[in-house]
Amino acid sequence: MKSDATPKSKGRGRERVHEGLAVSPGVAIGMVFVRESGDVQVPEYLIPTGRLDDETQRLQDAVGRALKQVGKLKAKALNYHGAAAEELGYLLDAHLQMLNSSRLIGGIERVIREDRRNAEAAVMAEVSIIAQEFAAMEDPYLRTRAQEVREVGHRIIRNLTRSEFTSFDSLPKDSIILAEEITPADTALMDPARVAGFASVLGGAEGHTAIMARSLGLPAVVGVPDLMQEVANGDQVIVDGSNGLVIVNPSAARLADYRDRLKALAREARALARLRKVAAVTRDEERVVLQANIELPRELGQATTAGAEGIGLLRTEFLFMNRTDLPGEDEQFVALAEIIGGMAGRPVTVRTLDVGGEKLASALGDRVLEEPNPALGLRAIRLSLKERSLLDTQLCAILRASALGPVRILLPMISAPQEVREVRKAVEQAARRLKRRGVKIGEPLPPLGVMIEVPGAALGADALARTCDFFAIGTNDLTMYTLAIDRTEETVAHLYNPLHPAVLRLIQFAVEAALRARLPVSVCGEMAGDPRYTALLLGLGVRELSMVANALPRVKNRILKLDMQAAMRRAQIIMDQSDAGRIATLLDDFNEALG
Ligand code: PEP
Ligand code: MG
Repeated sequence: MKSDATPKSKGRGRERVHEGLAVSPGVAIGMVFVRESGDVQVPEYLIPTGRLDDETQRLQDAVGRALKQVGKLKAKALNYHGAAAEELGYLLDAHLQMLNSSRLIGGIERVIREDRRNAEAAVMAEVSIIAQEFAAMEDPYLRTRAQEVREVGHRIIRNLTRSEFTSFDSLPKDSIILAEEITPADTALMDPARVAGFASVLGGAEGHTAIMARSLGLPAVVGVPDLMQEVANGDQVIVDGSNGLVIVNPSAARLADYRDRLKALAREARALARLRKVAAVTRDEERVVLQANIELPRELGQATTAGAEGIGLLRTEFLFMNRTDLPGEDEQFVALAEIIGGMAGRPVTVRTLDVGGEKLASALGDRVLEEPNPALGLRAIRLSLKERSLLDTQLCAILRASALGPVRILLPMISAPQEVREVRKAVEQAARRLKRRGVKIGEPLPPLGVMIEVPGAALGADALARTCDFFAIGTNDLTMYTLAIDRTEETVAHLYNPLHPAVLRLIQFAVEAALRARLPVSVCGEMAGDPRYTALLLGLGVRELSMVANALPRVKNRILKLDMQAAMRRAQIIMDQSDAGRIATLLDDFNEALG
């Protein structure tokens, strides 16, 4: 929940309400920071005659990138509905036309060649001339083209001057970031002390950006088609991450209403905070273990404040984000030591690197980029086993850290027992190497667990159970791969449904395999953090849930109210159903009766 200390609206215009996907709950009230505003510093300098070809090439590269970006936006816009989608389609067509060898691009090239000006300055010069011509036209439609020329120019300049990583460090308190796209790496740079929330044109509900937003407690809405139209830095804005609304220049009545909601949310959070030290026990005295997922070390405080009994999933991707080099063993050890120390004897489950797919890590450069089907490609454990130095470095750091407290090693995207066996060998080798170096490691070696997040792993869970020490069910990817729905894609977000009977059967299958083999089994996908699903997961036999820390009190509250025997009976009825809608009704009715 965010502060409601809002600067006065600049009164730039009428209220506009945009709808999108509600991906991170809560309300943020603040001032717009348009990430792609084009408000960039444009350097100006003369190009030596011998380097004019290089400079023209630099321009062409930037234009090529712009074409790709607009093309991607247009492909998305085609899937939206209604007038906004149509308008957006026309607009992007106009942008594509300008970028495709129009007078604009020809003019910029001429300024580079004839005046020997650098590409950025040439863009500014040519855009200014053409925009002035449009602005002077009689026809109101053509006059609006002036703004479009400027937008296209800004896009080219951003591509020319683009820096590797966005920094949000200089933003004032209560900034709300609006952007075409926000990556997980961008989110990692958002400091909740400055950034109150964000919204973007692209993005799906279960993508990593959404998960990071929930982890950081930042209200967020993604997949908002017309978000970037007529919005300017400094506009007042509300992001309603619970209902999927972005309200630019809110009316006084709307603001007052949202301020009341902020107060109500704060009251609710205070009431839930009282549950911190209460054990998660059902009414019929069944104990459930609640742990936290951690994306970034700075969430450690939230995890302990929420009363997490351990870290059920430490995503180590943060070590590889927003940088161009790889973290070494010492650096990884220090980061892990901080978290293990912070958990003071409670277990920490460290997952090995899970990049590829939507989770691109800049530090890995070309190793994982540009696959035709990245979600099916060299991702996660596959990459670690191929680039053995990545795995070995990480395992050494984890083993060293295991001397400081209870640690478990978790492997992402496992699809076959052979992968687990290879990693186990690698762990043993790393342990021997460390001992030869005289380095202290935890004894016995940490338990080795498998993420069940690929349908094949769920169906082959009995065989996997014979190779590993615990299961962690990743319902995010399990849902994505079972239903063939890209979890980051807003156009198919309405089809993403963990209550699909096929997904539930796979969860049940994996849980039962674990129980047969007497292996601990947890759920650490986003389902675990949504109280709507708590009764069902417990009813299926799960007794460990790991979730974003700030979801923990609500889930605990639900557990305190429910009766395990009743939850198991309801799960049985649900598992006899073949329709996801009926399943949802059966579950919601059960939850409602709990109050
Ligand atoms: C999952 O897939 O459910 C999971 C927990 O892993 P991630 O969200 O990091 O892919
Ligand atoms: Mg996953």
